[in-house]
Amino acid sequence: MSEGERLTELAKRRGFYFPSSSAYGGAAGFWTYGPQGAALKSNIEDAWRDRYVVKEGHQEISAPDVMPEPVFEASGHLDGFDDMIVECGECGATHRADHLVEDNTDIEEAESLPNEEVMDLIAEHGIECPSCHTSLADQPVDNFNLMFETNIGPGSSSPGYLRPETAQGIFVEFPQLSEYARNQLPFGVAQIGKAYRNEISPRKSLVRVREFTQAELEHFVDPEEDEPPLAEVEDVVLPLYAAAEQQTDDGGQRELTVREAVDEDIVESEWVAYYLGVSKEWYERIGVDMDRFRYRQHLAGERAHYASDCWDAESEVDGDWIEITGFAYRGDYDLSKHAKHSGEDYTVFKQYDEPITVDRATVDPDMSYLGPEFGGSAGAVADALEALAERNPDAFDDDEVTVEVDGKSHTVPVDKTNFSVDEVTENGEHIRPHVVEPSFGVGRIIYTVLAHSYETDEVDGEERTYLGLPPEQAPTTVGVFPLMDKDGMDDLATDIADDLRAAGLSVTYDDSGAIGRRYRRQDEVGTPYCVTVDYESLEDDSEAQRASDSASSAEPRSANRSSGQSPREDGDEPRAGTVTVRERDTTEQKRLPIDGLAETLEQLSTGDRTFDDL
Ligand code: ATP
Repeated sequence: MSEGERLTELAKRRGFYFPSSSAYGGAAGFWTYGPQGAALKSNIEDAWRDRYVVKEGHQEISAPDVMPEPVFEASGHLDGFDDMIVECGECGATHRADHLVEDNTDIEEAESLPNEEVMDLIAEHGIECPSCHTSLADQPVDNFNLMFETNIGPGSSSPGYLRPETAQGIFVEFPQLSEYARNQLPFGVAQIGKAYRNEISPRKSLVRVREFTQAELEHFVDPEEDEPPLAEVEDVVLPLYAAAEQQTDDGGQRELTVREAVDEDIVESEWVAYYLGVSKEWYERIGVDMDRFRYRQHLAGERAHYASDCWDAESEVDGDWIEITGFAYRGDYDLSKHAKHSGEDYTVFKQYDEPITVDRATVDPDMSYLGPEFGGSAGAVADALEALAERNPDAFDDDEVTVEVDGKSHTVPVDKTNFSVDEVTENGEHIRPHVVEPSFGVGRIIYTVLAHSYETDEVDGEERTYLGLPPEQAPTTVGVFPLMDKDGMDDLATDIADDLRAAGLSVTYDDSGAIGRRYRRQDEVGTPYCVTVDYESLEDDSEAQRASDSASSAEPRSANRSSGQSPREDGDEPRAGTVTVRERDTTEQKRLPIDGLAETLEQLSTGDRTFDDL
């Protein structure tokens, strides 16, 4: 079984994720997160929120999933959000043409090639339809728009689309959002929400799906003045796979600090470099294995034309590199597009430190002249004169001035334009902010974290599978078990579980099966701590004491249910009012007092204490 298959098997069996609507045959590219997966997902989203919203001091919004057509006309998605598709002439199956080329050749980013070249490569390499193995040579490679279309309300007069990225919900609302930020740059707006892409070939479970969650931050900055707090991350070491390295045969990853990457111009934008540094620490925190992780720079053909510097965070699973996050310096592209298409103001008024006096050239065209002279174009000619005065006042030095309207030249006597230059005091100017965007795919991050935390070892001669998830991300923090479901152990265990829940810990109660089996179940879902209530737990609480010296022992721990023995087999004297706490990765166990248990587990799960310290 490949790493991905093993993971998907575990994910289905243990309730992380599984294909949706399978009772009706399902629909490819849609997955349901089960109880463990939904908890893991919300823990990862909370960790994201904590780092990118709370710690960065940004704001979070929640915009609709459906947006009207003009939004996507402006954003460029309607015209250009396409993938290359090739249809099999024999069985009719459709495939993503660039992926077929990547899978069957050494070419890594076929997406950046023109359709004709991809078609040629398919023929040249004898690529076949993965479904029926008929040759795909000479089949046309077409563009396919990935947006899901819908109608807003009855009829078809008001088309809408499921957003293909959460970002548009932020860009469109910039005028309001800027007001809430008191028009003070820089400010960031974040959103965690669903995005939808009608992918041609969904695959690799959560990696390429049709409905997924993005966590995106749009950081609006003044390109002239704002700088990131680079010093905070300058020593973070980044595994960088720069474009230049990708183009040489022996090129590879380089380890550079954020500061070195900026000084050596490997990462062009300091803002992008800042977020690479922040995110490296964040990925480590949530359990991405840094030995299977890199930042890859986009090749020139791959980069969106408006983006000046783009890097992807990539994780390795099953020998493949998966893009888990895109980092882009998007300039003012998005805000300019929405300004142009909506006619609204997508700028910020930037106040000067001191008012300044400037010469301002203006016109006040004589419409009684322009009207008869230019008819229906008179208004446009007046606007063009106004723009020209602002842009190039010298053009009004002669007796006549010429402007272009819709490709036609119109000449106007300067005295009919009422051109004048006046001294005015200005307090500031309208500027269009630039945007820095880290865009995280939550599903691919979950897939990575699960793959990278999947471990096997041997305990008591048996193979064990466990997820070494960081406690902060684990779906459940504590498993609570009564050794046996009788003699008051069940009641005490239930009380302990309730107390731990009341203290805010995520708890699973399990009283079925041999204790060793219960440990294994929790190991497989990554529960970092298990608490077992046994006979000695029932003894007088007053004698309870911290057992920091209690010896650890290897995994049992086939507790002898019929004799009611403790799950500990280390020979220590029983301690009253105590329970066994077992750590997942080492399977080490310690006897701890019930009193203060919630606090201890909380400290363990936040990393304020280690199991060894107990
Ligand atoms: P790809 O090249 O893999 O299609 P992309 O470059 O189009 O991805 P972006 O538009 O940059 O992706 O989206 C940001 C993030 O959203 C990606 O880094 C990825 O984690 C996630 N993402 C994008 N498409 C999908 C998908 N179909 N399924 C799951 N996650 C996705």
